[in-house]
Amino acid sequence: MLTKLRKITSDFADAPTFSRSLQGLAKNMREVVEAEVSSVYLVVPGQRNFLFVANEGLNRNAVGEVTLGRNEGLISFVAERAEPINLDNARSHPRFHLVPEIGEELFNAFLGVPVIHHRRVIGVLVLQRKQKKRFDESEEAFLVTLSAQLASVIAHAEATGDVAKLAEHISSQEFLEDTVFFGVPGSSGVALGYPVVLEPVASFDAIPERAIKNINREVGIMTTAVEAVRADIRGTIKNLANSLPQEELALFEAYLHMLDDGALTGDVLAEIKDGHWAQGALKTVIQAHVKRFDSMEDPYLRERGADVKDLGLRLLAYLQDGHSDVVEFPEHTILIGNELTTSMLTKISSQRLRGIVSMQGSQNSHVAILARALGIPAVMGVVDLPLIQIQNVPLIVDGYAGKVHANPSSATESRYLALLSEEKRFANELEDLKALPPITPDGCRMTLWVNIGLTTEITGSLDRGAEGIGLFRTEVPFMAQDRFPSEEEQRKIYREHLEAFTPRPVTMRMLDIGGDKSLPYFPIGDQNPSLGWRGIRVTLDHPEIFMVQARAMLKANAGLDGDLRIMLPMVSTLLEVQEAKALVERAYQEVLEEDPTVRRPLIGVMIEVPAAVYQARLLAKEVDFLAVGSNDLTQYILAVDRNNPRVAELYSELHPAVLRALREVAKAAHAEDTYVGICGEFAGTPVGAILLMAMGYHVLSMNAMNLSRVKWVIRNIRLSDARRMLAKVLRLETAQQAKEFMDKELVGAGLGGIVPRYQDTSMMTDP
Ligand code: PEP
Ligand code: MG
Repeated sequence: MLTKLRKITSDFADAPTFSRSLQGLAKNMREVVEAEVSSVYLVVPGQRNFLFVANEGLNRNAVGEVTLGRNEGLISFVAERAEPINLDNARSHPRFHLVPEIGEELFNAFLGVPVIHHRRVIGVLVLQRKQKKRFDESEEAFLVTLSAQLASVIAHAEATGDVAKLAEHISSQEFLEDTVFFGVPGSSGVALGYPVVLEPVASFDAIPERAIKNINREVGIMTTAVEAVRADIRGTIKNLANSLPQEELALFEAYLHMLDDGALTGDVLAEIKDGHWAQGALKTVIQAHVKRFDSMEDPYLRERGADVKDLGLRLLAYLQDGHSDVVEFPEHTILIGNELTTSMLTKISSQRLRGIVSMQGSQNSHVAILARALGIPAVMGVVDLPLIQIQNVPLIVDGYAGKVHANPSSATESRYLALLSEEKRFANELEDLKALPPITPDGCRMTLWVNIGLTTEITGSLDRGAEGIGLFRTEVPFMAQDRFPSEEEQRKIYREHLEAFTPRPVTMRMLDIGGDKSLPYFPIGDQNPSLGWRGIRVTLDHPEIFMVQARAMLKANAGLDGDLRIMLPMVSTLLEVQEAKALVERAYQEVLEEDPTVRRPLIGVMIEVPAAVYQARLLAKEVDFLAVGSNDLTQYILAVDRNNPRVAELYSELHPAVLRALREVAKAAHAEDTYVGICGEFAGTPVGAILLMAMGYHVLSMNAMNLSRVKWVIRNIRLSDARRMLAKVLRLETAQQAKEFMDKELVGAGLGGIVPRYQDTSMMTDP
């Protein structure tokens, strides 16, 4: 049976088109089970209907033509029950519904198995026989196994639009009301508008190999294209100069650098000189670069592959002279694409652009970064979006929750419109907050710091009122290199941060690689990276890397009035802390010999694994401060990979076990009179800020974008109320209950409307 299953799935994957895959599936199913009829039904994206998409044994002309509604017939019954339905006489079943076009009158036995992906029924596989006898257990088990195996492939076909193409003749007016598509938040905010689906003008797929004789001519063509793209980018920089901060404009400068002779252009010209025509040379070079980026484990660097591709397509458009495509943008445009690029974004005037939805990409994509800088709501990674059917359908982009409402009902629309007007009011209030301290109405003074990784983030953080750096992810500058940065290179980067923030505290974390963060030049390749060689484990095994980094940090702080603090990631034993402290001390003594102005830094431990929670008091005795990394701590307590979308729903800092762990750490720190901060994402959320403040955390460190919102919440919630909320939350049994309770509290305190992230997810129930 296993061999047969393998053959069916490989036939499915190898078929030249999706409809041929489905037809092959129907044929294989019928043969293996020796049924007289086999059929496949798929849910039409954006509809409640099932489309009859493949068949053996019935009227093939009905394939692609017949749809069944959600309450129609046995197919919908299978979907409703979300389990196999095995009948000896289908026609006597109360849900039997005869569709004359299909012609199944003669058949009695019926076996229907749902195709389920992420708890959603996306199709139904059906076998039928004339004989009035149920399919046997092994036949049923076979179909269940087959369906489970094909579910993700079919879901992928949904995402790429292949399923929608089968139903192209079903008009978009029939798009189901209030259909919600989920992705990840790319840029916060809410937008209402109409989609404009953008596809790349040019494509590398169709470029053939072509040998050339006149190399100089091809070089000339390429050079002209490069100049044209340069001019476009300079134009973009000029256009955006007023709406984008300097550091975001640097993204476009980076594009210009990529066009230098020493970078992409040089590689393409070399390829041309090897005898290839300009388009072919460009294709080879871009694809090689993209492949390199795609294979990188680090999500930030992987996204850079999209930038290279974008630049390549801009060049190709000029080479193919197809760059002049004019697209009409309506007043309230929601830009949509399979993989939106920054160049697509710059095609439209910012007055008309309301929102962005990309099927590919993540928070790290350049499009998301730019959208945040421009203040345009964006949802990334909406893999299920049916690009073809969505055209002309009104949309709401919810950049807070990372979801898109298609064809919203008037109730949904008015809730979002209310939210938009609240937002406008809130934006004005936030603006006034920058210079004010984060202090509760009953006098609790919190400290708000920022998490940082790039030098370009310094100005934005200071502008937004950061009182210090709570987490400098030093691995980020390491990632941008093709070898470990030297001591002097590191010193310069650290110095920039210390100089900018002096005399405010700057907490530098020792290199934290492994897990989901890897360096292109230092592959780790653990089987189970989250439980493997990561964080302090790596650098203690490589004291030479540790020492260079520690010396660079100390030297960077020498002669400054700066407040350098060093933080150790992924600590799971006391010994690690003692060893690391000894290394820092050695580095300090070494630097002291060269520079008497150097000062001993404070040293802290990150609490990121359950072992550290249980030993928090002991660790607190050993160091100057504790800092909770709640992103990792949540993943380890709940055994939920923080980057795996399949289990993303299980990831919640409001899980009672996580909340108890967080409270334990705060208690341990207080018992030892040690200051305690937290630098995971939770600290930057309104609910997190309230509960953590109540637990006694002194410092909340977050992405600079969240500073004002959190400050606003702190200035509007009394510590006594926060404590009351915490006491209640700690008695609740599930994360959902905690969330519902906190949402209600926020709304009750008058913060619901103004903290849309919370109002959205609590008050706006999805259909
Ligand atoms: C954390 O784990 O919460 C943390 C701040 O570190 P990182 O997200 O860089 O792993
Ligand atoms: Mg961490």
